[in-house]
Amino acid sequence: MKNITIVFLLIFLFFQNLTISQSLENKNVLVIYQLDPYHQPKLFVEKVTKWLESQKANTIVSNNLNTYSDKKLMDSIDLVIQTVTTGKLTSAQEKGLTNAIKSGTGIAGSHGGLGDSFRENTLYQFMIGGQFVSHPGGKVKYTVEFTSPKTYLTKAIKNFEINSEQYFMHIDPSINVLATTKFNGQQYPWIKDTEMPVCWTKTFGKGKVFYLSVGHSPDNFDIPEVWELLTRGFKWASKN
Ligand SMILES: [Zn+2]
Repeated sequence: MKNITIVFLLIFLFFQNLTISQSLENKNVLVIYQLDPYHQPKLFVEKVTKWLESQKANTIVSNNLNTYSDKKLMDSIDLVIQTVTTGKLTSAQEKGLTNAIKSGTGIAGSHGGLGDSFRENTLYQFMIGGQFVSHPGGKVKYTVEFTSPKTYLTKAIKNFEINSEQYFMHIDPSINVLATTKFNGQQYPWIKDTEMPVCWTKTFGKGKVFYLSVGHSPDNFDIPEVWELLTRGFKWASKN
């Protein structure tokens, strides 16, 4: 009886590991970007596509938001990696994207590219689970701390310091917070010690959403903890 319990436990752990550490091999990944005056999305796209190639994913790169309203294409996509700061979705584009995620396509990204994308599209914001509103003091030194217990996504990644934009966001209370940061209140004393989510996961229908607020400049992704966290997020969010 004891042996049977152990066998079942091993089978359970095997399948649990399989579902959380899924690979992107042969998955269809849409990398979508738009240029903006604040960031360097092209460098981000270059780094991400190079990594996707190493993971043997089928990558489609687009800088046209009409891709979202192409239902046939969207039905074939396992993961959307978006880097579009500000901008606006037409109702057809918003419907195309949100319907794809509801049906099981994953979406992942960082900084303003996912968390400050379409300020007028509330359905999009409902899907992502947070919206940028301020980065007090511009480029500041801050610490990112992981919440416990650690999950597959954060396992063995250490808390880290970064000198970059610290995002203050309006947050959906239903998100699953993986990491946080605290504000020093130097610019806005009333937010001193406010603990703000930096990284989270959530679902939207059948789709998985992964977000990381770090990523103002390309060198942010040279921090091993940042890149490891983000790429685990890409794998996790893709369609099972
Ligand atoms: Zn920024």
